[in-house]
Amino acid sequence: MDKPTLAIIIPCFNEELCIRNTVEKLFLVINSLIEKDKIKSDSYLYLVDDGSSDSTWEIIKELHSKNNLVKAQKFIRNYGNQKALIAGLEGVRAIGCDCVVSIDADLQQDEWAIEKFVDEYMKGFDIVSGIRNDRKTDSFFKKTTALMFYKLMNLMGVRIPVNHSDYRLISRRALELMSQYHENALFLRGFFHELGLKTAYVHFDVKQRMAGKSKFNLVKLMELSLNGITSFSIVPLRFITVLGFLMAFFGFIVGVEAVFEKFFHNNAPNGMATTIILLCVFGGIQLFCIGIIGEYVGQVFREVKARPRYIKDTELK
Ligand code: UDP
Ligand code: MG
Repeated sequence: MDKPTLAIIIPCFNEELCIRNTVEKLFLVINSLIEKDKIKSDSYLYLVDDGSSDSTWEIIKELHSKNNLVKAQKFIRNYGNQKALIAGLEGVRAIGCDCVVSIDADLQQDEWAIEKFVDEYMKGFDIVSGIRNDRKTDSFFKKTTALMFYKLMNLMGVRIPVNHSDYRLISRRALELMSQYHENALFLRGFFHELGLKTAYVHFDVKQRMAGKSKFNLVKLMELSLNGITSFSIVPLRFITVLGFLMAFFGFIVGVEAVFEKFFHNNAPNGMATTIILLCVFGGIQLFCIGIIGEYVGQVFREVKARPRYIKDTELK
């Protein structure tokens, strides 16, 4: 296989404190790989500004004017990290590359693992997923929510590798396949795993955030996992069917027992409290289930409108 042109995409949301340093460090990696004759010299960076309100875009423009291998795109508003990644993948597909790596702007992921990614790519893997070694650098809150995220996903039948974030390499072939999927809220982790292309795993260390604060909050995380579940699994819907069946069965048994008591023991069951409790419990379960169905209806609603995934403001190529 010929040595590839590598593109590295970086979603950036209010990352003015990180971006210069990140670009510099990634060029160290790129240049070292060029020296080792592992990638072509036209390999480049592609930054996606996810509607930042700080000076991120000004810095990116400056970096681009100094070095044409810093390419970038800006959204008209904040669409979230997944959309920024999708835009990055579509952007480099249009510009051209043989393989593409996505990495966070705060460089929490060890950027030198990219070399191992490229080695695996050269062995013929279409997807190389980065798996983090541990979560030492994470807060207790982040650790627990992340663990819940993977547990919930797996329970719901969404098969994603544990501790794999969006640090991965994908080949041109995977990019082309992705372009045939038009769903609006594409959940990349689930998507690339489900594609079924030859996948390799590379372990890497996680560092502290270089500067600034995490751009993820609980709401964004919940949205991500809900979208992951509703776009990759119908387990919750099946769960409702089974639950409904079990509840009906339970009601039937209780009914039979009430009739039995009445006719054979002449002992009409009393119990206002029981009635009220059952009413509340079943009412609650029903609302919960309607909520789950609602999530899917919402997903259909969003997809059927087929709105653009994001709106591009400018692009620097
Ligand atoms: N990010 C983004 N849009 C958002 C939130 C985050 O593009 O709405 C980017 C952010 O700039 C970073 C990456 O997604 O490059 C991961 O975010 P962050 O490091 O804040 O998340 P954490 O590492 O805390 O999970
Ligand atoms: Mg981070």
